[in-house]
Amino acid sequence: MTKFSPKKTLLLAGAGHAHIGMLRRLSAARLKNPDTIEADIHLISEQPQTIYSGMLPGWMAGHYQLHDISIDIKSLCVRAGVRFIQQSLVQVNAASNKVVTTGDKQTDFDYDVLSLNTGADTDMRWLRDHKDQNDYRSDSDDSDANTDVIAIRPLSTFITQWQRILKDAQSSEKYQLAIIGAGAAAIELVMAAQVALRNINRNHQVILVCGENLLSGFNSGFRQRVIKQLDRHDITIIRERATDYRDGELSTTNKSLPINAVIAATGVIGSAWTVSTDLEIEGDGFVAVNDKQQSVSHPNVFAVGDVATRIDKYVAHSGVHSVHGGAIEADNLLAYLKDSIMESYQPKSRTLYLLSCGDKYAIGSWGNVNLQGRWVWHLKKYIDKRFIEADKN
Ligand SMILES: Cc1cc2nc3c(=O)[nH]c(=O)nc-3n(C[C@H](O)[C@H](O)[C@H](O)COP(=O)(O)OP(=O)(O)OC[C@H]3O[C@@H](n4cnc5c(N)ncnc54)[C@H](O)[C@@H]3O)c2cc1C
Repeated sequence: MTKFSPKKTLLLAGAGHAHIGMLRRLSAARLKNPDTIEADIHLISEQPQTIYSGMLPGWMAGHYQLHDISIDIKSLCVRAGVRFIQQSLVQVNAASNKVVTTGDKQTDFDYDVLSLNTGADTDMRWLRDHKDQNDYRSDSDDSDANTDVIAIRPLSTFITQWQRILKDAQSSEKYQLAIIGAGAAAIELVMAAQVALRNINRNHQVILVCGENLLSGFNSGFRQRVIKQLDRHDITIIRERATDYRDGELSTTNKSLPINAVIAATGVIGSAWTVSTDLEIEGDGFVAVNDKQQSVSHPNVFAVGDVATRIDKYVAHSGVHSVHGGAIEADNLLAYLKDSIMESYQPKSRTLYLLSCGDKYAIGSWGNVNLQGRWVWHLKKYIDKRFIEADKN
């Protein structure tokens, strides 16, 4: 009699860039041979659709509809032969190979191999009332207590809040919006928001509050190009740190300003569930992984994208690394299930970064080479659409 070994369970948590790539790959493999994957695969995601961050500023500026920037995860799971579970991950007990989720009810899931691609939360520690600014999250975490500030993440919540801002701006004589942050995401948001609000009323104004280190990770040529674009859009730049926002008043180190709404794009910290997990966590709440994207404490757990941090070298938290690291991680998950050799993710020394400037204009950076123009925006659109429409081909 033939003895069948039971199929292993591969649990994918989160529908970030890496897991989208994994689902597409499984779906292509299944088309060729439905029996290729020797595991039961499940995907846990908060939402049946995921918003693609790279096109979010384009949606805000009015270049795209919501459906243009959304990926249908549930359908992708069906095509990939993966069970879709609409739940939110709240706990990972790696010692017992179990995760806990919430949704319509609290549920436990067992796994043989776990892959984490749940992204990260917006870092709100700049708010004055955050109790311990050194601790990325405390048990009595109050970083979300100031509900007046709109965090860019989760994107699904932000979408609704942005629609409300537009509605309020339509009935206002002079609407003032502040965006807090100094990275590429904050810059894209500020220009997209200015285009959208000025299309409603020329009196509306967007303010960038960026502290002293605007675009610190980019070369000075790129920074100068960005500053010229901010100037072209008549965006007010406050080079001070924001400290608080309540009752319509934004406080910075030296000022207090009347502001209708504040959006925070202030970097990322680990999600709430990372506080109580037994996985090894690094820095501001990221799952510590090696060059194979494998947890350094639990070898049957893998993590990729913003949820993870490499312990052997610095790799920025970005969509680009989630996509490229995710491709290697997908190979490694399948290799791990088959007990075969895993690969190392070696990020390229230069990555192409394309920053949209609100009105179908973009600036690009590739190492020390900088470019700009309408054609750069069209190049960005082409690359973004290729990513989002990969399933439609
Ligand atoms: C406005 C903006 C523009 C950006 N532009 C670029 C760009 O042009 N290029 C670039 O490289 N980077 C860009 N970034 C950064 C980029 O968005 C992130 O680095 C990237 O999204 C990280 O991808 P990820 O795969 O880790 O997870 P994410 O894309 O964050 O996805 C995580 C997924 O997991 C789900 N999830 C989260 N928590 C849970 C949970 N507890 N349970 C179940 N599911 C969960 C979420 O709903 C989401 O679907 C931008 C960021 C912003 C805010």
